[in-house]
Amino acid sequence: MNVIVVNLIIVFSLNLTFAQTGGITDTSKSPYAKLQSVNLNAVKWTEGFWKDQLKIENEHTLPYMWDLYHKEETHAYNNFEIAAGLYKGKHDGPSFHDGDFYKILEGMAASYAVTGDQELNKQMDEAIALIADAQREDGYLHTPVLIEERWGTLGPEALQKQLGFEKYNMGHLMTAACIHYRSTGKSNFLNIAKGVADYLYDFYKKASPELARNAICPSHYMGVIEMYRTTRDIRYLELTKNLINIRGTTADGTDDNQDRIPFRDQTTAMGHAVRANYLYAGVADLYAETGEAVLLERLNSIWEDVTKRKMYVTGACGALYDGVSPDGTSYNPTDVQKIHQAYGRPYQLPNATAHTETCANIGNLLWNWRMLQLTGDAKYTDVMELSLYNSILSGISLTGKEFNYNNPLAIYQDLPFDQRWGNVRQGYIALSNCCAPNVTRTLAEVANYAYNLTKNGLFINFYGSNNLKTNTLNEDLIELEQLSNYPWDGKITIKIKKAPKGIYHINLRIPGWCTDASLLVNGKTIENLDPGTYKNVAKKWKQGDVIELELPMSVNFIEANPLVEETKNQVAVKRGPLVYCLESEDIIDEIDLKKVSINIDSPFKIENQDISKRKIITLKGSGFYNNSNWEENLYQPLSTNEQKVSITLIPYFTWGNRNNGDMSVWLAY
Ligand SMILES: [Zn+2]
Repeated sequence: MNVIVVNLIIVFSLNLTFAQTGGITDTSKSPYAKLQSVNLNAVKWTEGFWKDQLKIENEHTLPYMWDLYHKEETHAYNNFEIAAGLYKGKHDGPSFHDGDFYKILEGMAASYAVTGDQELNKQMDEAIALIADAQREDGYLHTPVLIEERWGTLGPEALQKQLGFEKYNMGHLMTAACIHYRSTGKSNFLNIAKGVADYLYDFYKKASPELARNAICPSHYMGVIEMYRTTRDIRYLELTKNLINIRGTTADGTDDNQDRIPFRDQTTAMGHAVRANYLYAGVADLYAETGEAVLLERLNSIWEDVTKRKMYVTGACGALYDGVSPDGTSYNPTDVQKIHQAYGRPYQLPNATAHTETCANIGNLLWNWRMLQLTGDAKYTDVMELSLYNSILSGISLTGKEFNYNNPLAIYQDLPFDQRWGNVRQGYIALSNCCAPNVTRTLAEVANYAYNLTKNGLFINFYGSNNLKTNTLNEDLIELEQLSNYPWDGKITIKIKKAPKGIYHINLRIPGWCTDASLLVNGKTIENLDPGTYKNVAKKWKQGDVIELELPMSVNFIEANPLVEETKNQVAVKRGPLVYCLESEDIIDEIDLKKVSINIDSPFKIENQDISKRKIITLKGSGFYNNSNWEENLYQPLSTNEQKVSITLIPYFTWGNRNNGDMSVWLAY
């Protein structure tokens, strides 16, 4: 009992002594951004979907990831210890492990901002002290190289930086350090990040374009800009400009790395989808500071290309495991440029072989978040929501300790070939565990995506039961309580607990999927709610005012553009923001899921169900089963031998949490 009281006092006094500043991005001084983050501790989930998810995050995912990255098996923490000189050893594990460990620290910092959990604080300090010991005098920090320099145990091949994830690691360090600083008020991590940013500033001043292009999965654009925003050191803005200017200026650039041509000449999405989306997010950050028109024009053009031609119905990005660049041959017809884990041609969206890496889908969220900050346009929030609830959440199991690298839209156990990565979530994906810490930090930060501040009001981006308590941008206060069982139900009630003085604009997101929204403010109907916009309600608010928003969630059948060959004559089922799928578990035994079609004329009934102790809503309806015998035929005469079957659809993000059977989002009708 006494211990609890003491802890409460510590947490309380900590919150009193440090006023947090900034959220996941800090656009408070960005001249070309319309929106700003609320502080990391401004939003607290109180019940429902995200409260449940955050409980899993705090009780399972974060402790699991912390332990995992301390194990010999991953060797991530060991790499820092060896680099710091604690003992002699070799670097082991992928060269992006440093960055993945920083992502876990970022998640811990975001979680600490809300919970004030002193154990997290202690763990972070311990790790930060080690990272500081590993850092080179000139600020450089990348354990494969530092270990080689200190111990000479790897050989020179380990120093080939082009594919070495050096800048990726440094980028995640800078982002994590900014979040840590905003969460804790401590500068121990930020000081390390300043060393890294200073090192990069000097490096890019002197480096040849060939050396400077060595930057894959460029998380450092976002990282360096956030360092500029945190420290206001003008050199970091200059550095970000240099980073974009220098891309695509060498003869050996590739579409896979988005550097065959300069960014300012690019109009479509190409190449590796994680690298692409991280680049676009970083460029959006740069635009927020400089307002260079061509950057926004290019981002708009690429965004249209992605959302109208290359994105999955789940918000996932990167259709191809491997392929050739659609455009890379134009500069030299004798060469074909290989691409991997990449955007394909327009409308090239295979389902079972979709690469759709969780990190690419998170990149889609990061990019669209930044586009939203620039414009306040709800079309970006629609993409954020789509990715988050579907192709990002599918990256983690319902119990929070297994992870997906790929998020395909169909799984067939009898495909006659092995894909490079399996479609079963794993605790540790030895060669590609980047996604696990990425989804870990992202889910710790969802609350911060839920609201934005503007000069004269508030944007409500995501719905769910939570309390918001924040300063307005006019040094006033607003406090509100949101009650909702979203995404299972579209009824949202918002109660004003503390109102700012004067007219205040509350902008409520009307999702693009909702065509029949209704809105009451203190019982009075507000008209003209257009899907895919923010509804501005400007008034002098007072304590006790009530906003009631209803976003009816009917069951919708979605079809793809006829140019998407893989989904011809098929539908996907959506309800609210959630995409649904059929798993073999939910049809009668022994029936081959590939031969099941959906009856779109049958009503779909909503049912409550538990999977892995999580409450979900399933859709129960009917379909048809075509029992034709294919043996090994490739073609055969059309069979019309169909029988009726009942089918139950589950939310896409919950697939693979029971048995590992077949699954499909798209169903013939
Ligand atoms: Zn990944």
